[in-house]
Amino acid sequence: MKITRILAYRVELPLHETTYKWSGGKSVTVFDSTIVRVETDTGLVGHGEVCPLGPFYLPAYAEGVRAGIRELGPHLLGADPRQLAKLNRLMDAALKGHPYVKSGIDIACWDILGQAAGMPVCELLGGRYGADFHLYRAISQESPEKMADQVAGYRSQGYRRFQLKVGGDPDVDIARIEAVSAKLHPGDRLVADANTGWVQHEAVRVARAVRDVDVYIEQPCLTYEECLAVRRQCAHPFVLDENIDDLGILLRAKADLAMDVVNLKISKLGGLTKIRQARDLCVSMGIAMTLEDSWGGDIATAAIAHLAHSTPTEFLFSTTDFNSYVTVSTATGAPQRLDGRMAASTQPGLGIQPRMEVLGTPVVDVH
Ligand code: MG
Repeated sequence: MKITRILAYRVELPLHETTYKWSGGKSVTVFDSTIVRVETDTGLVGHGEVCPLGPFYLPAYAEGVRAGIRELGPHLLGADPRQLAKLNRLMDAALKGHPYVKSGIDIACWDILGQAAGMPVCELLGGRYGADFHLYRAISQESPEKMADQVAGYRSQGYRRFQLKVGGDPDVDIARIEAVSAKLHPGDRLVADANTGWVQHEAVRVARAVRDVDVYIEQPCLTYEECLAVRRQCAHPFVLDENIDDLGILLRAKADLAMDVVNLKISKLGGLTKIRQARDLCVSMGIAMTLEDSWGGDIATAAIAHLAHSTPTEFLFSTTDFNSYVTVSTATGAPQRLDGRMAASTQPGLGIQPRMEVLGTPVVDVH
């Protein structure tokens, strides 16, 4: 089987909540997502999606996905999309770095492999654990009262795990954590994600102020070293995210005892092939994970679901259903939340069919 054509489509994904806000005053109102389509000489076609959280979250931006595919695509024509390790080596040889550019192509090729094998991607990623898995809800940064109301509202929809967007004024963040915590019930789980927004001394202060609250602290500061310093002064379970973008830093963080949970995003690592390697390593090392992506719609959510569902349940700390945050559906067959839980498709590949009328005219066409 040979890749004959790679296309990319630009899709705008508005939000039900209108705006998503996080640390440092950053916000997005309409997500700019790229749907990648890989065609083959057999007629099998696969799809992937890459949707950065704006251009100011990770070193990734939406137009960069498309520019990167224009650069990388010609090198992949004629390659076998089912041979994913070889394909990733080919991508890394043709374009240094830029893992987010490669992510959508890699996901699309897993979709093709699954269809060729007649198996869902989650079974190819190691096997399905349980009937379904639990989701978390990200709570956009607002006043403490509004965030507490949002948590109560999403709790009534079945969610039991919540990730608060903090990383703002430390005093307000303390109030946010306390206000939300008061709304929780036994068994609920709360994460305060600062998304690199605190200076080191602020992070230590917040952690001390909420010492008696049952909350995880996620990525308090910009650099790994600052986070490690906070971790060493903090009694809470600790999550690293933005700094952990390859195996080298993952192994260093394990050796430094720098985290209890790690947040791995498909496009941050460079696709399902590379995140699976990191995921399996974390299982072997005893590190639980939030498995997700930076953002996306139906196709990204399908890929996340296959990754999450093929992860041993005790190591799946949380994941989320981005397709329920946005108002546009880009594919049929994508997993849907039910009572705060979700399951990967049982159909071959990702189990999705893109809505071509939503995708429109391709903005990249390599053939
Ligand atoms: Mg995070």
